[in-house]
Amino acid sequence: MHDETAIPPTRALFHDDSYRKEFTATVVAAGPEGIALDQTAFFPGGGGQPADRGELVWAGHRHPVREMAKRGAVLWHRISPAAPLPTPGTQVAGALDWDHRYALMRTHTALHILCGVIWRDYGSQVTGSSMKPLAARMDFELEGMPKDLAQEIAVRVNAEIELGREIRVSTLPRAEALAIPDLIRTKANLLPAAIAEIRIVDIVGLDCQADGGTHVASTREVGRVRVVRHESKGRINKRLYIEIVPAAAAAFA
Ligand SMILES: [Zn+2]
Repeated sequence: MHDETAIPPTRALFHDDSYRKEFTATVVAAGPEGIALDQTAFFPGGGGQPADRGELVWAGHRHPVREMAKRGAVLWHRISPAAPLPTPGTQVAGALDWDHRYALMRTHTALHILCGVIWRDYGSQVTGSSMKPLAARMDFELEGMPKDLAQEIAVRVNAEIELGREIRVSTLPRAEALAIPDLIRTKANLLPAAIAEIRIVDIVGLDCQADGGTHVASTREVGRVRVVRHESKGRINKRLYIEIVPAAAAAFA
């Protein structure tokens, strides 16, 4: 293992610009744990959003990135174990599998819209979620399950999409961030005390959360959300399954 304290933290290009598809970088370390670069556009996975896919290219080499790993502030790109590794100082070019990433951006934003609607209109807390490209699941707490609830939620979520709400990403000092009422609701105050700055994803006028993921710039980019299934898991715990479909499709199956 490398001593990670000796490896500079990876500059996370995806935090500043979620639309960055390509980048160049310098190798700072390479070994069995992967390739560490001075900067990357590859999201390593986290907060329910899967890691990016894509490829790294350097003199005479082109290798798919199979997996990402995060150790402290260093992000590792894992390629085939059979492939030769670049030496530190090598210039590499990286390119994301953009279809995969963009689908995840739309899906992640859809989940935040859903979260915002469920809180604003039903006063309910989201207790968990998971996503893959263009499909997601969300758990929340709500007493009873009116017969038409899933359809009603789908209509409300799609109305927010059609409003074309802007999504603003910012980084705030901890104290300032925790003064935002929505952030208390989403339990951002449980973030480790060592985190001095908190990244905020704000769907302006709807939902504001501490979040490290990548999002689209306007709710309209999501397309359309279809609620495909819902389950009652006991008296209070509910689960919704959604799919992201083209804007012209029907909102529920
Ligand atoms: Zn999120």
